[in-house]
Amino acid sequence: PAQSRQAEEQRIKVCVRKRPLTCAESRRGEADVVTTTGGECVIVHEVKEAVDLSQYILQHKFYFDQVFGEESSNKEVYQQTAYPLVQHIGKVTCFAYGQTGAGKTHTMLGSPAIPGLYALAVQDIFAHLSATHSYQLVFVSFFEIYCGQLYDLLDHRKRLFAREDGQRVVHISGLRDVRVDSVSSLLEVISRGTAERTQGMSGVNPLSSRSHALLQIQLRDSNQQIAGRMWFVDLAGSERASDTKEPDRQSRMEGAEINQSLLALKECIRSLDQEQSHTPFRQSKLTQVLKDSFVGDSMTCMIANISPGHTATEHTLNTLRYADRVKEL
Ligand code: ADP
Ligand code: MG
Repeated sequence: PAQSRQAEEQRIKVCVRKRPLTCAESRRGEADVVTTTGGECVIVHEVKEAVDLSQYILQHKFYFDQVFGEESSNKEVYQQTAYPLVQHIGKVTCFAYGQTGAGKTHTMLGSPAIPGLYALAVQDIFAHLSATHSYQLVFVSFFEIYCGQLYDLLDHRKRLFAREDGQRVVHISGLRDVRVDSVSSLLEVISRGTAERTQGMSGVNPLSSRSHALLQIQLRDSNQQIAGRMWFVDLAGSERASDTKEPDRQSRMEGAEINQSLLALKECIRSLDQEQSHTPFRQSKLTQVLKDSFVGDSMTCMIANISPGHTATEHTLNTLRYADRVKEL
């Protein structure tokens, strides 16, 4: 009960997750420039060069609702982020933000050995339904937004269109949803969908990092009324388009689209906490589709994923500044 009270008070939770150095990074001598302390603080040690070419370290300190160090497991991250939201499933949205390679998909999807937030949430949802002898059914849909267009990952990448109805509710017409009755059937559906994701065009970002992947989990009563819903969003890599090796037209377009949608997302989440009547959700396809997440009694959690390595310092600082702005009033 204490946990749900806390969740009720806090509609936006912004967390940071630092991943460990990978073996490949350690082998090539990548230095770990990020320290996490006290569960709420993260410090980036930026190596700078003085005019006389000597090096010095500039420290950047940030505070968040919660900071997870490299020792934190998916389970622990889940328990502190999505779990309280799953406990009172109403309208819930959970984002993984960060540079490509920072750990978004590890957090959301994980692997068979290390399940991520999708699986852990659905596991708890099933446990809750069975404990309360509920007749509610669980449906999932899974699609991606690539260059401002929607593709159904559960229906052979069918193009989808989002429309606002007379009540200003956004619908995605034709979106396929699939009923799942166990965690394993959810994972099977998701792995089918993941295989359908866009191969990005850009040089540094091989697979799927240029699109947003949106998983929706719905609880429905036997009369098909929606009793609760959760979005899990594995966002496109937040690095700039200019990072790509060959900034050709296509990857410039991808980058511009991603920047625009991530900026709009920040503004929309911020507007949740302010008594602001105008939420700029129409500024991108991502925020338009998620409109429902930015109004009324919805709860949002953002996990900003960061890499520890010194070559990622600039991206890491950008990610932390973005996350900071999401929260700042
Ligand atoms: P992204 O989806 O942000 O591009 P990934 O989730 O694919 O990044 O992570 C990049 C690599 O780092 C993967 O090999 C992944 O297994 C590994 N990784 C990410 N986060 C962690 C973590 N917390 N612990 C261990 N390995 C991780
Ligand atoms: Mg990924």
